[in-house]
Amino acid sequence: MAEEDIKSFHDLITEVHEKGLCGKCGGCVSFCSAGDLNALEIGDDDAPRFVDEERCLKCGICYLICPQMKALNPELKEAFGWKPPIGSYRSLHSARTTDERIKKVCTDGGVVTSLLAYALKKGIIQGAIVSRKIGPFARQPVIVTDPDELIEAAGSHFEESSHLEEIGRQYATYSPAIREVRNLGKSDLQRIALVGTPCQVYTVRKMQYLKVLPADTIVLTIGLFCMENFSFDDRARKRLEKSLKIRLDKVEKLNIKDDVIATLVGGEVVHLPFEAVDEIARPACMGCPDFANDYADISVGGLGSPDGYTTTLVRTVFGEKLYNGAKSQNDIEELSFRSHEEMRIHKTKAMARIIAFAKRKKERAKKYVSLDFRSDK
Ligand SMILES: Cc1cc2nc3c(=O)[nH]c(=O)nc-3n(C[C@H](O)[C@H](O)[C@H](O)COP(=O)(O)OP(=O)(O)OC[C@H]3O[C@@H](n4cnc5c(N)ncnc54)[C@H](O)[C@@H]3O)c2cc1C
Ligand code: SF4
Ligand code: SF4
Ligand code: SF4
Repeated sequence: MAEEDIKSFHDLITEVHEKGLCGKCGGCVSFCSAGDLNALEIGDDDAPRFVDEERCLKCGICYLICPQMKALNPELKEAFGWKPPIGSYRSLHSARTTDERIKKVCTDGGVVTSLLAYALKKGIIQGAIVSRKIGPFARQPVIVTDPDELIEAAGSHFEESSHLEEIGRQYATYSPAIREVRNLGKSDLQRIALVGTPCQVYTVRKMQYLKVLPADTIVLTIGLFCMENFSFDDRARKRLEKSLKIRLDKVEKLNIKDDVIATLVGGEVVHLPFEAVDEIARPACMGCPDFANDYADISVGGLGSPDGYTTTLVRTVFGEKLYNGAKSQNDIEELSFRSHEEMRIHKTKAMARIIAFAKRKKERAKKYVSLDFRSDK
């Protein structure tokens, strides 16, 4: 095969960057540097770029693992028994943590943190890539190996409410968890969990399918439902504050369920429709069709559950073992119902909402960008 027949970072430039679809996940750079090829780096604007084009072997792996590229979809669908419209799953629950410390800081029901804490306690994993808050609208990926660090990284609460200035004039809620994958190769950790958005879990699955090191050390993926992430500068912030009539430095907690939910200092809760915040959604997110984290071991969100509970979609056999293990140890508990019928109706409604959001997101992506280079996913 001629070299020009293989896709490379040049193709990512034309098919992703130039179309405004790069989500700045760093997956391409992670592989290129973990493989010691070092042709790419993260630039000042957080986007990947060639640092030394001469070093590019045109191996094509950055192209294949980029979440915007769907070339490996048939293989992944087969490997995971993917079924429309949101992939395969084994069970659906509304559950919450029983740990009071986690309850205080978690986003919804604290299931993510509890499952990870259980997995650490049992030696199922040695650590987890999670995202620690560094300000109201900023998170940073970090590898944690200790339950206390896990709890510290959980949730969307902020100790103080006026950190906006500390993180500069560009605010971004996206946390590039994949960038930590390249550091796994340098650590002694062999069994790691990753908490990530659909685009991140999708990239990890593609790395695993291609047997790209060190993705094999990720033995558990907990995937967040994801409608969008935000990125905005001071001008957009001021415009937004005017139209929404709230001050963003007064936002204490941010969550997304049926809409964007901002809890303000003092406890007032403001619901913002997605349309009201569309202008600060990252362009890559507007063109992204994945909502329910179809390839995770366990997918989680708030949608479909009452406040204080996490909607938990158990997808793989491994995910099921973990969920059942944590439940049997009373680390998590399920929403109780008066009858089996009531439970079935609750779960049917929750599933209907997940599917409706997944379809809505796919429709939005279709409108935003021509999906002719993507598959039917
Ligand atoms: C950007 C984003 C968008 C979301 N969109 C939706 C949505 O549209 N609908 C919906 O129902 N649910 C959405 N969720 C999921 C929801 O907000 C909760 O994270 C989920 O229900 C788990 O709650 P929990 O209490 O069990 O998790 P917790 O126990 O509180 O743990 C949360 C975990 O998520 C990690 N985390 C937090 N922020 C990020 C981030 N930006 N990137 C990667 N990891 C992160 C934390 O490190 C922690 O490990 C979204 C989450 C995020 C981060
Ligand atoms: S060496 Fe491979 S991974 Fe690195 S930029 Fe070139 S094609 Fe991409
Ligand atoms: S892998 Fe991530 S950072 Fe690289 S081009 Fe694709 S979206 Fe952008
Ligand atoms: S919407 Fe979520 S899954 Fe899609 S690109 Fe944005 S952060 Fe990733």
